[in-house]
Amino acid sequence: MTRTLLWFQQDLRLMDNPALREAVKGTHELTCLYCADPALRRPGRYHCKPVGDLPWRFILDSLDDLARSLVQFGQRLWLRQGDPLTVLPEIIKQRQIDRVVVSAPIGLDERRQWQTLMERHPDVVFEAVQSHTLFRLDQLPFSLDNLPGTFSQFRKAMEAVPVRPHCRPPTVLPPPPGRLRNDPLIPPRAPSNSPFRGGERPGRRHLNRYFAGSAPQSYKQTRNALDDWRSSTKFSPWLARGCLSARQVWAALSRHEHYRGANESTAWIRFELLWREYFQWYALAHGSKLFAFTGIQNIRRPTTFYAERFSKWCRGQTPFPIVNAAMSQLNATGYLSNRARQIVASAFVHELGLDWRYGAAYFQQQLLDYDVASNWGNWQYLAGVGADPRGWRHFDLAKQTEIYDPDGAFIRRWAPTQPSAPLDSHDEADWPRRAP
Ligand SMILES: Cc1cc2nc3c(=O)[nH]c(=O)nc-3n(C[C@H](O)[C@H](O)[C@H](O)COP(=O)(O)OP(=O)(O)OC[C@H]3O[C@@H](n4cnc5c(N)ncnc54)[C@H](O)[C@@H]3O)c2cc1C
Repeated sequence: MTRTLLWFQQDLRLMDNPALREAVKGTHELTCLYCADPALRRPGRYHCKPVGDLPWRFILDSLDDLARSLVQFGQRLWLRQGDPLTVLPEIIKQRQIDRVVVSAPIGLDERRQWQTLMERHPDVVFEAVQSHTLFRLDQLPFSLDNLPGTFSQFRKAMEAVPVRPHCRPPTVLPPPPGRLRNDPLIPPRAPSNSPFRGGERPGRRHLNRYFAGSAPQSYKQTRNALDDWRSSTKFSPWLARGCLSARQVWAALSRHEHYRGANESTAWIRFELLWREYFQWYALAHGSKLFAFTGIQNIRRPTTFYAERFSKWCRGQTPFPIVNAAMSQLNATGYLSNRARQIVASAFVHELGLDWRYGAAYFQQQLLDYDVASNWGNWQYLAGVGADPRGWRHFDLAKQTEIYDPDGAFIRRWAPTQPSAPLDSHDEADWPRRAP
């Protein structure tokens, strides 16, 4: 009798889930678990929560959807609240688990957690199956130590490597364990009016609709728009939480090209998926340097932490209307276009002179599509300490506004009033502060 524990993390789906396929092999009893660590909902090192309210809502909806899908297979999703290093050992002991299977984690904390579990349970088999990336490690034409230093080199190296076809879910799943504690993690909630609804089914619906229409045919021309649902694919939240796999998107894109024709725009979507791919391997290759102030380049840029400026940037109260509009959109929706992300990140390090890691941590808290590799990798890139061969890019805010918000509609919609207070409310004359 083999008892397997499948630990869902960033792979909240049944389709094209190689970890699930692996977990069912030779298994007589399958425990499907999601463990919510309360530490992720509390402010951490950069005064930000690792998972903010909007992304948490997306995750809960995704779990709901996953739980429903599992029921159709006679299975169930067990939800537990607690530190995985406490919860998993408890279940391993209680259910006499022989194997633990997980989608190979990309984040450093998650990889350390996995390592610790393996060390603590030498009698249990641990299998980490790659399911977050387009390619598997053994498909890369270089070792991780020799990961190309720029995206262009990576893309060229990957040109001849085929994306493997995605896998279907198993037709039958082994039964769940009879008795296990289940924490009431998914509270009843009113339907959200966000177009981003968490879950595999909503993700697949969106994928099919997007590729059934004509938007992919003009993606290259529209992708920089600041505030338009059809301008880019909007796949990122589902990809980040694993409700869709990158291979499913790749396959749907190829089908679209087959029936509607391939052009520069459809090729550009593929190009963006490769950017995502690059950052995944980048995160694995660079480990803790992904989060270091000096990045992978070991460069110290002249930025620091100013509490007041940071707080004004987060609230959209800076002297820059385009930045304020974007931050207010991020706070209200949990989403920002790629162009807006670049603009606010550039302003963060250049105009405000702030330590980029605080910006990355705030994005982590707010973004529905937070993905450890894409977020910290892109922030490094813009902060001039990452994979950008052109150095420390500074976006001209006036020019960006002129090009991307020429009639001011974006600013009027998201930041109709601008703050009148100066950026810094204290100057040297106020220091040291005297008692009133
Ligand atoms: C500072 C900063 C932080 C970012 N943080 C994240 C993040 O946490 N999670 C995330 O998924 N993306 C992040 N991105 C990348 C990009 O902005 C988003 O993936 C994109 O805006 C999502 O919208 P979309 O799905 O419509 O993208 P599309 O333009 O339609 O692109 C298709 C897909 O390609 C991938 N992609 C596109 N651009 C990039 C990129 N530059 N880097 C990595 N993948 C990309 C995404 O998976 C996206 O869904 C960040 C970019 C910047 C500049």
